[in-house]
Amino acid sequence: MQSYDIVRFGEKLQEREHPTPSPSGTEVLLRVTAAGVCHSDLHILDGYFDLGGGKKLSMAERGMKLPHTLGHETVGTVVAAGPGAIGIAPGGSYLVYPWIGCSDCAICQAGEEQLCLAPRFLGIHHSGGYADHIVVPHPRYLLDVSDLPPGEAAPYACSGLTTYGALRKIGPAIERDSVVIIGAGGLGLMALQLHRAMNGRRAIAVDIDPAKREAATRAGAYAAIDGAATDAVAQIKEAAGGQVWSVIDLVGSETTARLGIDSLTKGGKLIVVGLFGGAISLSLPLLPQRALTLQGSYVGSPGELRELLALVRRHKIPSIPIRERPLREANSALEALRAGSVIGRTVLRG
Ligand SMILES: [Zn+2]
Ligand SMILES: [Zn+2]
Repeated sequence: MQSYDIVRFGEKLQEREHPTPSPSGTEVLLRVTAAGVCHSDLHILDGYFDLGGGKKLSMAERGMKLPHTLGHETVGTVVAAGPGAIGIAPGGSYLVYPWIGCSDCAICQAGEEQLCLAPRFLGIHHSGGYADHIVVPHPRYLLDVSDLPPGEAAPYACSGLTTYGALRKIGPAIERDSVVIIGAGGLGLMALQLHRAMNGRRAIAVDIDPAKREAATRAGAYAAIDGAATDAVAQIKEAAGGQVWSVIDLVGSETTARLGIDSLTKGGKLIVVGLFGGAISLSLPLLPQRALTLQGSYVGSPGELRELLALVRRHKIPSIPIRERPLREANSALEALRAGSVIGRTVLRG
């Protein structure tokens, strides 16, 4: 089999040939038909996440071994299954749930594998989808997407699930209050569509890039505001009808988190999703006095991915703009994403 791997952090992926694994036990081997290119792939390629104040979260220190195959938004066709992989037949098209935990601890048993303290995430701890084949440890991580084009289904495993998981944290207020969505790239456009399908009242998009604001308006945003405008906070509040209860920060930078906090009304909630990096300082008395909630949201559970696919089907949610490129263009696809020139999602096709 062929894969595009990180051999050294900070360098281009290298094409590598190795024997195609044969699945044992409950494992399932799929031929990859689509692999989404996610922003966090860039951080993993760089070898670290920026924690702010000069601090870094190093992938090597987190135990990542090289070479490593990226890719956590994967759709594939089953080619073989181990004897213990019950109920899975060759030929079916499946979306891979990649946020796999130990499956034994209380968190995993409660269905929140993405929060397991012993993660085995595909594309992060184990080989992912930037390859022509992928091994998935158990059929329960495979969701049938035979009715969806692979390129459209793949991004639901990360960008879709991440935005759905964040929108779910707003709770029933989503139908009552405006939601501010900072960042109108791939995640932002997905968030706008899901927000509507979840009966969201009014979504206000914020982005510094006029092309992305335009895309947000086309995707149904009530308003699209330039986050770099000097009066951005005032514009956001006005578009929200005065008070902002919920902000989802899909960027996660110092400036976007600050903009989010400054926009919130008393009792409001900032949900940080993006991993751009940095740090903010916060006046602690303002947390109680403004009764603010700061919440992080990391991808979503296996159950939420099933709910998300059901929502997509029920509401016939149109796909975000997808650009398909051959797998061998993985490096240029990553560079285009880094340059900020991607509208929607790039999906690699083997
Ligand atoms: Zn991702
Ligand atoms: Zn676990």
